Amino acid sequence: MANVNIDWSNLGFNYQPITKRYVANYKDGHWEKGGLTEDATIVLNECAGILQYCQEVFEGLKAYRTKDGRIVTFRPDLNAKRMMDSAKRLVMPPVPEEMFMEAVDQVVSANKDWIPPYESGGALYLRPYLFATGPVIGVKPSDEYQFRLFGTPVGSYFKNGIKPITICVSDFDRAAPHGTGDIKAGLNYAMSLHPYILAHENGFDENMYLDAATRTYVEETGGANFLFVTKDNVIVTPKSNSILPSITRRSLVALAEKLGYKVEHRPVKFTELEEFAEAGLCGTAAVICPVGKVVSKDKTIEFASGMQEMGPVLTKLYNTLRGVQLGTVEAPEGWIREIK
Ligand SMILES: *Cc1c(COP(=O)(O)O)cnc(C)c1O
Repeated sequence: MANVNIDWSNLGFNYQPITKRYVANYKDGHWEKGGLTEDATIVLNECAGILQYCQEVFEGLKAYRTKDGRIVTFRPDLNAKRMMDSAKRLVMPPVPEEMFMEAVDQVVSANKDWIPPYESGGALYLRPYLFATGPVIGVKPSDEYQFRLFGTPVGSYFKNGIKPITICVSDFDRAAPHGTGDIKAGLNYAMSLHPYILAHENGFDENMYLDAATRTYVEETGGANFLFVTKDNVIVTPKSNSILPSITRRSLVALAEKLGYKVEHRPVKFTELEEFAEAGLCGTAAVICPVGKVVSKDKTIEFASGMQEMGPVLTKLYNTLRGVQLGTVEAPEGWIREIK
C-alpha cells in the first residue's frame, strides 16, 4: 500500500476517483470487448437515453482484505444476475455474467493499493452500472449502451460504534405494485431523495416505506431491506414484489437457517411491529444497521433491544456474515471470490 496517501481510519462514504475503471460498449446489437481505462469522465450525446428517459441500472458490492491477507469479493455472481434482471425490466441489453465478473476482477486487481487494510474495517466499494448512451427523442429504448464499473475506498460503516437508528414512516411511497421497486435502478432513488431529506430535517435517520396500495404492510427503506426478530427468536423478513431482493438479506437468512433459527419470509403488517424484539436494516453498506425506534403519525414503536446496542440475535447474524466476508468464519460454497 505504498502508492496512495489515505488516512484509512478517517475514511467516510464519499466518491474518490481511483486509478482504473472498466468500460464496455453495446452497439449494433452486441457487446464490444471491454477493458480498463484511466479516464473517469464520460462524454455523452445531449440526447442520450439516460438523459432523456432515465434508462439506468446499477449494483453495489465491496472488495475486502481478509484477516489472512487475501482480497475477496462477496457473492458477485448474485450482483451480476440481479443487474441482468434490472436491465431486462428497463429494456436494456443485460451485461453477460462473464463480462460483469471480468470487470470486478480487473478493477479490483488493478487498484489493490486503494483497498483499505483489514484492520480499518473499510472496503473498496464497487459500483457497476449500465446506461443508455444512444440518442432517443421519441419514447423508446436506446440502441446503444455503456457498462462501467469503478471503485472507491470507503471506511467502516460503524466508525463510531454500532448505534441503533430511529426511522419514520414516510408519507411518500417508494414503489408501486407491479412497478420497478424490485429492480436496482437510479429512477427509484431519484424520487426517494425528497422524502430522505425531509426525514433528516425532522430528525430521523431513514424512512420506512409501506406498501403503496394499502399502506398497511412494511416494505423497506430507500436502500435497505428490513429484518425483524420476534420475542421467540424467529427471524421475519417482509415479502412483497415491490421490495428489492437484497443479497445481504438473502445471505443473512441462509446463515440464520444454518445456525438453526426459524425464518419466515412473509407479508408483515405495520401493526405487528410492536410484537418484535429486534429490528434492523440490511444491505451491502452496513450488513446490518440496528433500528431502535420507528415513529409514525400516531405512535412510536420502541423495540425491546433499545437504543444502546444491536439486539442479541441480529448481533449473532452480523458477526457471522462479517466473519464470512473477512475470512474468520467458514464460508458456504461459492460465496467468496478471491481476487489475485
Ligand atoms: C441495493 C438495495 C438494497 C440492499 O441490497 P444488497 O444487495 O444487500 O446491498 C436494498 N434495497 C434497495 C432499494 C436497494 O437499492
